[in-house]
Amino acid sequence: MRGGVFYSRLGGLPRARAPGEPTGTDDAMMARALALAGMAAAMGEVPVGAVVYETATGRILGEGFNRREADNDPAAHAELLAVRAAARAIDHWRLNDFTLVVTLEPCAMCAGLVVNARVGRLVYGASDPKAGACESLYAIPSDGRLNHRPQVVRGVRSEACGDLLRAFFRRLRRGEA
Ligand SMILES: [Zn+2]
Repeated sequence: MRGGVFYSRLGGLPRARAPGEPTGTDDAMMARALALAGMAAAMGEVPVGAVVYETATGRILGEGFNRREADNDPAAHAELLAVRAAARAIDHWRLNDFTLVVTLEPCAMCAGLVVNARVGRLVYGASDPKAGACESLYAIPSDGRLNHRPQVVRGVRSEACGDLLRAFFRRLRRGEA
């Protein structure tokens, strides 16, 4: 049992920090996710970046940024690319021991992926009142009817994450993006 090994190795639950509180590693990973979002913006993509790291060690296993336009792929969201990369890296689809850090509140597809991939922790920056599925429109990761509920930490570097998006859409409206 993978889960059993995980919990015994960490000395059992609950974790040292209260749910909802970002760790220093979460914050550093959000800085990396913001840099990835900047790369998306430079390509004319909506700037969203994501990192998957091993919770216990801080080792990065997957990264991604939004590539919807570049790949002509409606599913090429930052989170999906980062989660797929991490699953390939560990050669396993189950990501209980990992944290997904993303600059924007995940959509319904990506929040569903977090549940399906059994991601242990979800950390995000800005809320998305138009499409967010973690608190804004739906609360998929915390829905008790589903078979997996990750720890959710929200609002990490939310100003910087939101500013990047607002600047992108401002340029888009001016025809500069
Ligand atoms: Zn998404």
